[in-house]
Formats: sequence, structure tokens, C-alpha cells
Amino acid sequence: MSQDLLHRYLFEEYEVRGELVQLDQTYRHIVDAQSYPLQVQTLLGELLVATSLLTATLKFEGSITVQLQGDGPVKMAVINGDHNQQLRGVARFEGELPSSSNLKDLVGNGQLVITISPEQGERYQGIIALSSDTLAGCLEAYFAQSEQLPTRLWIRTGMVEGEPKAAGIMVQALPAQSEDHEADFEHLVKLTETIKDEELFTLPAVDILYRLYHQDEVRVFEPQAVAFRCTCSRERCEHALLQVGRDEALSIVLEQGGIDMHCDYCGSHYLFDGSDVESLFNITPPSDTNKLH
Ligand SMILES: [Zn+2]
Repeated sequence: MSQDLLHRYLFEEYEVRGELVQLDQTYRHIVDAQSYPLQVQTLLGELLVATSLLTATLKFEGSITVQLQGDGPVKMAVINGDHNQQLRGVARFEGELPSSSNLKDLVGNGQLVITISPEQGERYQGIIALSSDTLAGCLEAYFAQSEQLPTRLWIRTGMVEGEPKAAGIMVQALPAQSEDHEADFEHLVKLTETIKDEELFTLPAVDILYRLYHQDEVRVFEPQAVAFRCTCSRERCEHALLQVGRDEALSIVLEQGGIDMHCDYCGSHYLFDGSDVESLFNITPPSDTNKLH
């Protein structure tokens, strides 16, 4: 099975950049972590593609979280990705889901929250109302508002021979603007929108780019691998338990025989028994305390 890849490309003659991402294993990982209904899987797949395309625009080390929240059956759906293209995500839903995968039917009245967290420096958060029936439409509105660079996205999910597929393309004008700027961008949008789902899911990236832009000169950069990766760990759970406090933690152990911390993103369980909790809070016999220094 081939690796999931993100390709960045530029046009020699136009001030426009493009990105193409094709996700098989990463998408499968996300939908396998929990038994999501198909509509929720689709939504997560779209968010996954969107987050991959967005994190590829980062000019620094850090992460981007793309989150949908609303009063519809899907209360929350989120994907988090970093500059290494390591992604994870989760969704919460309740009640009966509509049969359509229309964004507004699923999420209801709500918003799209995009959080950009550089490893160094301040966090930036953009919040926009769900003004479109599609995630791509909402993201285009976000780009118009935040970066003011003409941006178009094509986000597709589906099944090919029983395997879930998610893929997408983003075309964005670069800040340097020539006179023919708008016409160039529209020309490339017209070419890009001829892509068919089947092609996007099954053709190698170079074939897709040739199929779309063979009249134009395209410079394609080395692809970047995309993978599912959860950032949860036993250490992080321990940190959370320290926040809970010793008394509270020990009372959970008394009530439930131990503490089972579950990660919604990847399905991992972290188990802490009484002695784990005791040593965590440093209430071990005196002979052992030296180890902590
Ligand atoms: Zn996890």
C-alpha cells in the first residue's frame, strides 16, 4: 500500500500556488478509531483533507486545528495537524443523523474555528459562521476574510473497492499580483474544477497534475508524507492526573478499582492502579523518594 502524500506545486507563468493531497491510510486510521456513522466519517474525511492542505501553508513549525461546532446532530468534529503532516481527529454526535452529508444538516447552526498554534509565538484563532453547505465553501470564506488571497478548494471523500478515500486540491493566489492576476487565477480554477472524484482517488499525483494543467508549466516539489499520529502519552495522562489532585485521583481508584484514561483520538487506554497513583503523587515509602530527584 502506498504512502499518503501531499504535493505542493507552482505555475511557472502564474502567481498561483497549488496543493494536492491524497489520503488513504490516514483517513482509515481516523474512521477505525471509533465506529462512526458514514455521514460523520465523511465529515471527518473532509476536515482531514482541509487540515492537511492548511497545515501545508504554515511558514513555521506548529499546528493547525480545524473544528466544526454547532447545535445539530454532530456537536463537534475536529482535526488537528502539524507542520510534519501528522494528523488526528475526533467527532461527537448524538441523536438521529440526517441521511445527507450536507454540512448545515449535520452541524446545524454553528461555526468553523481555525486555530493556528506556532511552537514559538502567539496563537491565532479565526472563527467564521457556517455560511456554506460545504466545508470547502466555508474555508474559502475564511481565506477571503483572513488572508484576503483568492483561494479555492476541492475536497472529496468516497469509497473505492471498499476502501475509504479522501483527497483534495487547493489553489491559492500568491500575494505578488500582476495585472492579469484575476484572469490567471480564474483560468486555473476552470482547469482544476474538471477533476473527477475517481481520478482524485486513484490516479498518481503527477498524472492528476498533467491531466489538469498539461498546457501550463507546473513545478512540482518533493512530496511530503502524511500520517495519522496521536500526541497522547502516559506522561500526558500523568500530568492530567496531577491537575486532578491526589485526593480526587485516589477516590476514583477506591470507587472504580483504578483509573482508565481513554484517548478519543486514537482509542488508546492508559490504566493507573492504586500504586501508580501513589507513586505519581510521591507518597511512596521514604526509601524510594530519592529516585525522584
Ligand atoms: Zn491518542
